[in-house]
Amino acid sequence: MPDAGAAADASRGPLPPAGPTLELVTASPEETRALAGALAPLLRDGDLIVLTGDLGAGKTCFTQGLGRGLGVASRITSPTFTILAEYEGRVALHHLDAYRLAGVEEAADLDLPELLEEGVTVIEWGDRLAPALPDDHLRIEITLGRGDDDRSFVVTGGGRWALDDRDLGAALRPWSTTRGAAC
Ligand code: ADP
Ligand code: MG
Repeated sequence: MPDAGAAADASRGPLPPAGPTLELVTASPEETRALAGALAPLLRDGDLIVLTGDLGAGKTCFTQGLGRGLGVASRITSPTFTILAEYEGRVALHHLDAYRLAGVEEAADLDLPELLEEGVTVIEWGDRLAPALPDDHLRIEITLGRGDDDRSFVVTGGGRWALDDRDLGAALRPWSTTRGAAC
């Protein structure tokens, strides 16, 4: 079993997953949940999703949609104070919020490598744990748009996602900023 430090490489710096990049937009919380729900069928045991974006960007809202898509029956709330919440669904959902973690050292207590072995793991403020995370993940950067309810999403996939996009583009096309473009 690798220890928490084995996946860490402090020299690697912030996450730059090389792989597909998709730009998406939503105009309501429900649309964000629907977008996340469309991603759910593509997810399998061991998948990691890193969410970035300011407070109120929609990271928890996104995770609620993902949970709904994975068949999670319980209400998903922000795990800011609990750090980690686990839900049962088609596959288990591990929901982490790194906002209150001082850094990678504090995350060692969470035993990320073991957590990442099964289920789907979603980490809000995941950039804060960048050196401790495997390249093999989907990164979703959420930013506020012009209107109060507008959100932009930049999705990048590294590792397994880069090699095999698992119909990512097709699943997320309804929210793509380039959905009108011919392919
Ligand atoms: P975070 O977890 O990033 O801090 P939350 O998901 O808890 O953010 O909160 C997002 C807030 O923004 C909620 O109050 C939600 O209703 C609101 N909101 C408005 N428009 C959107 C949208 N398009 N997508 C997601 N949330 C939205
Ligand atoms: Mg949140």
